[in-house]
Amino acid sequence: MDTNASLWARLQAAVPRGVSISLPVFAVFAENAEIRDIDGHSYIDFAGGIGVLNVGHRHRRVIDAAERQMRAITHACFQVTPYESYVRLAERLNELAPGDKPKKTIFLTTGAEAIENAVKIARHATGRQAMLSFGGAFHGRTMMALALTGKVTPYKTGFGPFPADVYHVPFPDEFRGVGVRDALRAIDELFHSSVAPDRVAAVIVEPVQGEGGFNVAPFEFLRELRALCDRHGILLIADEIQTGFGRTGRMFAIEHSGVVPDLITVAKSLAGGFPLSGVIGAAEIMDSVAPGGLGGTYAGNPIACAAALAVLDVMRDEDILGRAAALGVRVRERMLAMARDPRFGCIGDVRGLGAMLAIELVKERGSREPATDLARRTVLKAAQFGLIILACGQHSNVLRVLVPLTASLETVDEGLSILERALEEAQR
Ligand code: PMP
Repeated sequence: MDTNASLWARLQAAVPRGVSISLPVFAVFAENAEIRDIDGHSYIDFAGGIGVLNVGHRHRRVIDAAERQMRAITHACFQVTPYESYVRLAERLNELAPGDKPKKTIFLTTGAEAIENAVKIARHATGRQAMLSFGGAFHGRTMMALALTGKVTPYKTGFGPFPADVYHVPFPDEFRGVGVRDALRAIDELFHSSVAPDRVAAVIVEPVQGEGGFNVAPFEFLRELRALCDRHGILLIADEIQTGFGRTGRMFAIEHSGVVPDLITVAKSLAGGFPLSGVIGAAEIMDSVAPGGLGGTYAGNPIACAAALAVLDVMRDEDILGRAAALGVRVRERMLAMARDPRFGCIGDVRGLGAMLAIELVKERGSREPATDLARRTVLKAAQFGLIILACGQHSNVLRVLVPLTASLETVDEGLSILERALEEAQR
């Protein structure tokens, strides 16, 4: 009989170590916010497969929709013989995305592929080449997405050269003393020192940096970015791959700021566990690319589209946005209480938006020196006690909550109690 230990040995022999694994826990079954492993342990899932399961593992309506679709047709290639579910999903996202202009949506498969396509569309529509991104950003693991990513180790080391004409500026970071003005000044300097603004196709920004450590872009900053883009004819791309589909209490996190981006990249929770991504944008921009310039064999797979339509129904019928807001309040309260607790002087910061919340661990109160080892030990201890939680941040010292928004408050409370116990023991 296979066990976590026996499968771990086989994994190490058969899979390259570049695919780093958070926990030696082999999942065999999952439901809503719980995962069971092959040894029979069960875990509260604060990872959601990295933000993919806002409506929970195997939501009945998502599975029903996918099963129905599987019995009808599993693949046709949209560019060969299209199908209605792709069109309907595009219609619904065009309707949901912020802004009054008519919109269009293309579907792809992974988040990185959505990023690649957003860049292609932005370059084509503007006739410009340069791209502006932020320190700490994560946009995926394909070459252009890596070029845009603002964290070298482990993502970029040894993989260059990357596509040229990508520039990074600091992301506002209140905890480390980078204000909105500092970030804007850095863009201004970049425009003088390195790239003229009339050569920039687009600025790409995560409204809340995900892998970068749950750094929230101040709404004022997003509004200033919008104004700057408008001044220079630059497109604004919101990467909502991790922030989207209710995580922050709105369908898209950018909505909190009132800013309307030109393009939005989506993936992860869009299809509740099926591989699907997309780019939503103003129709005039999306239509700039000539026929044949966009697509992909598997792009917008029919099973994934059917699942995504069910996800949107669930979000509407189960008030997922309201649940995210309520859950966010509860998790933040508990995190702040932990941060005040003398046992947890290692919590340097509590931050996030809606239910996208995290604690940053530091060497000692007030020090801002990242406690990377402590975060790693806490993740392992938490798993021993029955909680799956992920680290993120430039120094992997930030513990983040991406629990399904369909989880009960009791489950989330239980998960946070495990986190407390794990953090206490990990400090010993
Ligand atoms: N953008 C953001 C904001 C992400 O969080 C991620 C994945 N963590 C990606 C892009 C890349 O998505 P994928 O792994 O599906 O390629």
